[in-house]
Amino acid sequence: MVADMVTATGEWDSDRLRDLLPSTVLEYMAATPLPLARLGDDVPGWRWDEKRQFQVSSAYAVLMEVGERRHASSWSKIWSLQVPQRVRVFMWITALRRHLTNVERVRRHIASSDVCSLCHGGPKDIDHVLRFCTKACELWRCVLGQEVANNFDEWLHGNITRSLVANVERGEWGMRFSVFCWLLWKRRCSMVLDGDFVERESVLDRGNHFILECKAAYSQLHSVPMAVHRREQWWEGPQRGWVKGNVDAAVNVNDGRAAVGGVFRDESGEIFCRSTSGGGRTCCCGATTVGGSKDGRRVGELVSLGGMEFSTGFLQLL
Ligand SMILES: [Zn+2]
Repeated sequence: MVADMVTATGEWDSDRLRDLLPSTVLEYMAATPLPLARLGDDVPGWRWDEKRQFQVSSAYAVLMEVGERRHASSWSKIWSLQVPQRVRVFMWITALRRHLTNVERVRRHIASSDVCSLCHGGPKDIDHVLRFCTKACELWRCVLGQEVANNFDEWLHGNITRSLVANVERGEWGMRFSVFCWLLWKRRCSMVLDGDFVERESVLDRGNHFILECKAAYSQLHSVPMAVHRREQWWEGPQRGWVKGNVDAAVNVNDGRAAVGGVFRDESGEIFCRSTSGGGRTCCCGATTVGGSKDGRRVGELVSLGGMEFSTGFLQLL
């Protein structure tokens, strides 16, 4: 009984309490009014309401506030992850559960089944896609360091903010986790939407390459101050009878892989040839792409009649 801890003079029995409770609790009790009989019997009360009366609305407000406070740091962490903006946007949408999964499609009455089309293992919501689908489980079995949680929100926010993982540099886990989640989603979309999809590189390998590129890009960004100049530019057609080709390419400086794409248009802007190619090496794939495409011959014919104007941001192609 609490009353047993009060002396005859109406004060806390500190001699008895000192043996039972830590000093921090005793200090707290010293600032708490004593239980006095004249104040009536103790009754349970709802501490989050001024009148101590329980209301569902106040319970909801408390829960929402607690949840927001708990995850507040991870919301801001998403935007500071050292990954491309598209990955950050993906994680933001994931945290809001706004992806158009089968569960969401059924809810919007644009699909009749919410079952996962890859594993048929259950309703396909974002939790299933990133955690429980067999395709996701295969990955997480290989990637060590995942924070485990019962609840999807706890799992997501816990991993985004997690910093200390064995064999992973401090602060890097959130980046790794985000990249793997993003690649899991991208692969699923390709498998479902692209009938000709062939997985040439596993999500694990692709993720590890991508993470290396992110780290290299960010270390370069922080070591060399870069000036950014922006200007708007519009396509301008070639002179009459000529063909204009716009070509650009990208090269991975880590392994030399390259991809190139281009379009060829006449003076009216009509596109009669477009071509893309990936997986080549350095700039030689540019010539292969243009010469090897079916429409490449037509480009050659037109060029022989008039002339060709080239525009590219990748000088090695020329
Ligand atoms: Zn599945």
